Amino acid sequence: MKYTIATIGSHSALNILNGAKEEGFKTLLLCEKERRFYERFNVADKIIYLENLKDMGNKDIQEKLLEKNVIMIPHGSYISYLTLDFLENEFGVPIFGNKYLFRWESDRNLEREWLENSGIKIPKIFEDENIDREVIVKFHGAKGGKGYFFAENRKDIIEKVGKKENYQIQEYIKGVAMYFHFFYSPLEKDNVLMSIDRRYESNVDFLGRMPRGFEIEPSYVVVGNFPIVIRESLLEKVFDIGDKVVEQSKKIHDKGLIGPYCLETIVTDEPEIITFEISARIVAGTNPFIPYTPYSYIKYGKKMSMGRRIAVEIKNAIKEERLEDVIT
Ligand code: AMP
Repeated sequence: MKYTIATIGSHSALNILNGAKEEGFKTLLLCEKERRFYERFNVADKIIYLENLKDMGNKDIQEKLLEKNVIMIPHGSYISYLTLDFLENEFGVPIFGNKYLFRWESDRNLEREWLENSGIKIPKIFEDENIDREVIVKFHGAKGGKGYFFAENRKDIIEKVGKKENYQIQEYIKGVAMYFHFFYSPLEKDNVLMSIDRRYESNVDFLGRMPRGFEIEPSYVVVGNFPIVIRESLLEKVFDIGDKVVEQSKKIHDKGLIGPYCLETIVTDEPEIITFEISARIVAGTNPFIPYTPYSYIKYGKKMSMGRRIAVEIKNAIKEERLEDVIT
């Protein structure tokens, strides 16, 4: 049976489709009709333009995808277009990865539970009352750092959001942000560090360049990504965190993490690695690493981007008749 690898036109679609083509799959892109730039890159064999990406849930589109033996590769935009309930209960097209963990990355309380029960270092969470240090305030459901703000005390927070809003108050960790991109292969039972990035955030990354005498509030909106390699002696800690998070994911859902996931951390000057978020699918921070990264090249001895690694896993799963182990 011939399979087609498909995704939504946003986030890391170029990376995903390019990897799929490298491994010889047919590729399909579902895209909003205003977004034409994908045509310039020749990575999609077919593009289905939709009025609105939410239409992807329609019965006729789903039937079309099933007819083509589509395997969908989820990324950060899926949950914005299809609700979690819909993805879990009604979307019948196979998804590479474990879609049941998306709820755990999207809900800050569940995410917290996952990280806490993994036994790794995480920032302290404050209730409104007892804030005794600098904090970062994050709204539930906020994406890409949008709306995050820095605060020094409770009064600060109330001035900015009032009392009723739905937010989480995290200790502001003093250090540099590093995002670790792992690939967990259920076929090989191997937890692979593929790459590391830091985000380019507007306007916090501009503050060091600010002319004197002009004060602005930092904001944390992600607009790009830089590659990083970590000081080699810290890799033991990185793998330890990754292994613990994978172990815990199996207690949340029997299939556990499948394929790409990302640990979002701050590395302090101790040095210590504090994990503040997790993504249970490919992140856009893997995009600078086509065709490879120092880590993926050393591991595989050839060009291996995250998009390609996903396609390799699907190909191996088909060959071994274990597709069920890598899709949900
Ligand atoms: P996110 O979109 O959640 O990955 O976070 C966006 C940015 O907010 C990060 O790259 C950091 O610059 C900053 N950030 C998030 N959480 C914390 C934290 N607990 N302490 C310090 N900075 C943080």
